[in-house]
Amino acid sequence: MESPTAPAPLFADVVFDRPLDTAYSYSVPEHLRDAIAVGKRIECSFGRGEGFAVGYVIRVTEVQPTREVKPIRKVLDEVALLDEELLKLTRWMADYYLCGWGQVLHAVVPAGVRGNAGTRNSTVVELLPREEQPAILPSVTAKQKQVLDHLRGIGAPLEQNELAKAVGVGVAVVAGLVTKGLLRKFHERVERLPAGFLDPIPSEAEFARTHGTPILNVDQAKVWEPIRAALETGGHRAFLLHGVTGSGKTEIYLRAIEEVVKSGREAIVLVPEISLTPQTIERFRGRCGRVAVLHSHLTDSERATYWRHVASGDVQVVVGARSAVFAPTRKLGLIVIDEEHETSFKQDSTPRYHARAVAIMRAQLANVPILLGTATPALETWHAAHTGAATLLTLPKRVEDRAMPKVQLVDMRHEPKTPGKYFAIGTTLQAAIRDATKKGGQVILMLNRRGYSTHVHCTNCGHVAQCTHCDLSLTFHRAKAALVCHYCGWETPPMLQCPACAEASIRYQGLGTEKLHAELDAMFPDRVIQRMDSDTMTKAGSHQRVLDSFRDGHVHILLGTQMIAKGLDFPNVTLVGVINADAGLHLPDFRAAERTFQLLAQVAGRAGRGDKGGRVLIQTYTPEHSCIALAAKHDYNAFAKLELGFRREHLYPPYQRMARLIVRSEKQDAAEKFADQLAGGFKQANIRASGPGQPLAVRILGPAECPVFKLNDHYRFHFQLLSATSGVLHSVLREVLAVTKAPSGVEFQVDVDPYSML
Ligand code: ADP
Ligand code: ZN
Repeated sequence: MESPTAPAPLFADVVFDRPLDTAYSYSVPEHLRDAIAVGKRIECSFGRGEGFAVGYVIRVTEVQPTREVKPIRKVLDEVALLDEELLKLTRWMADYYLCGWGQVLHAVVPAGVRGNAGTRNSTVVELLPREEQPAILPSVTAKQKQVLDHLRGIGAPLEQNELAKAVGVGVAVVAGLVTKGLLRKFHERVERLPAGFLDPIPSEAEFARTHGTPILNVDQAKVWEPIRAALETGGHRAFLLHGVTGSGKTEIYLRAIEEVVKSGREAIVLVPEISLTPQTIERFRGRCGRVAVLHSHLTDSERATYWRHVASGDVQVVVGARSAVFAPTRKLGLIVIDEEHETSFKQDSTPRYHARAVAIMRAQLANVPILLGTATPALETWHAAHTGAATLLTLPKRVEDRAMPKVQLVDMRHEPKTPGKYFAIGTTLQAAIRDATKKGGQVILMLNRRGYSTHVHCTNCGHVAQCTHCDLSLTFHRAKAALVCHYCGWETPPMLQCPACAEASIRYQGLGTEKLHAELDAMFPDRVIQRMDSDTMTKAGSHQRVLDSFRDGHVHILLGTQMIAKGLDFPNVTLVGVINADAGLHLPDFRAAERTFQLLAQVAGRAGRGDKGGRVLIQTYTPEHSCIALAAKHDYNAFAKLELGFRREHLYPPYQRMARLIVRSEKQDAAEKFADQLAGGFKQANIRASGPGQPLAVRILGPAECPVFKLNDHYRFHFQLLSATSGVLHSVLREVLAVTKAPSGVEFQVDVDPYSML
């Protein structure tokens, strides 16, 4: 059809998966006018060469760009991948985390969605209305009549193959009807996975079985009221639900989600990946309508199928790890983050976002409440709740008057020792394990290091077995018969002779879970012992298998790394033992004490969740250290007060905002030179941002060698930038990054609100 007046030319701004935070303009050719839309991907030429690139459309406009522009070649998506809200959110992420908007979009839209995974092209047929059929109806065969009758009965278009199969005829019979002008044929993208893939809404019987909504206790009722009110009035609010382990926090999440679903809206629930157990999922599924579970083991097709179902409004609740914060819900009503303090919510590749920060921003944009729950709040969140940014709600006791487990610190300096022998498990803990298992209870033991021997060295010359690619010592893995670098995975055969002095005096020392397992097997030959760490849990489902056999009571002692500290709810666990409470305490990281406290509090929370009660034994060489002493008393408030005092004194987060910049290169001097150049840039930018004669607004530490200087064959220097506000910190970083180009062979990474300090 020819339009009377030619429409005004159209242009599109496009971003690419590149660090540059620049949008490029293209013209929209006539034939793509209807297809183009914000949030879709397009193909176009990029750069000087002949190559094509895929970009995301972020603006469509009639305003003519000042420069001459090239045309878009192709529009790749039928529907926009992101709506207005997610576009705003990703734009904010690019600004805040100092990376390209295109990089963020590329990370947020799952690969399967970009590739239409889980769908296929299919041929669909439908009955033509009488007026579009031939005036004189052609004759049809008996089989063709059956086909027509079937289609009439269904009253909707049907896939050609499916139709043929349903009637029991060949596809040619259907095709014949198309030729005769009685049916119309068209192509459509359809879901490849069967409809049953999406979890069904539970039947009423199932609902009754899992529903069992308990009556809220007094404390729960108190915290529920403001949440209920916020959901009713609408608008954005942030709540920090601080409740000890087993205090009924999940019950509060469930109520809130029920309210949201009842009002026809959707909820996103973020939980650490490790907590995505069938038990957790069951609780949500039983109460909250149709649930999509996004975990890391999904195939591209499954993930893409979920994405489409969420986008089309088929799903009421999305439960998932970090990336579920980007679920394309249509009518978001609430975001919940369980275990909000977990560091796994921070992504360690570009965009280096923290799902909590993104979730808070998303809740603001959508103007809905957010509920953060934990027994051990991140100090940033605790601080926010004491400065008015969030409302603090407290559940101080376990439900049904269950006691918190008694925690005993075992001072390993005074444990009786067997001469010539070394046992990881001291006599006190050994007796406690014996006692607990004899009474039919189960035991959880945590040792936060994997492998067999964690320290392989020469007693003659002091040589330590190290990775050739990293500044890290190697761990001996007995089952693998190899020395392994836990960072880059490099392996080498174990040695008896020292590679440095050639003496046969290599000693294998230091304790990992593999050796602890062997020690336990020898100590408790009549008990069933299972180990859970990332070495034994490599297959999909292995995690669940171990937990199931532990729940059944088949396994008496479960040992593992921090993997076993989180979220497990086994009422028959009457003893929890921590082998090495001090392990993480001396890392060069200002959060070391906070992490140790959280880990001890979490693992202690695994004990005494049933009627039998429970106790916790913590082996330590520094029982007087405040974070260990206060974890033993379950006293988060005292710990937070003490630790915040320290942070305030040293001007660390949450009192100041931090960014970290790492420069790395395979050539040490190239890295060093570029770091020095950056240092000069930072200094100038800092003076400008602070104003002439004013005290410097940003504290710039560095460049210095990273604590792990060589990693994966790269030499690494870092800066830490700290400032009272994120505004000035960002402006200094932005100014320098805008004019900085790393020389070839040198890379740099910016990490805003960093979690890794190594
Ligand atoms: P948290 O999330 O704080 O660890 P949960 O919500 O999982 O605590 O509650 C711990 C246990 O107590 C669960 O088995 C839960 O069903 C039960 N529970 C929660 N609230 C109540 C209540 N008001 N009355 C009885 N049992 C409850
Ligand atoms: Zn290595």
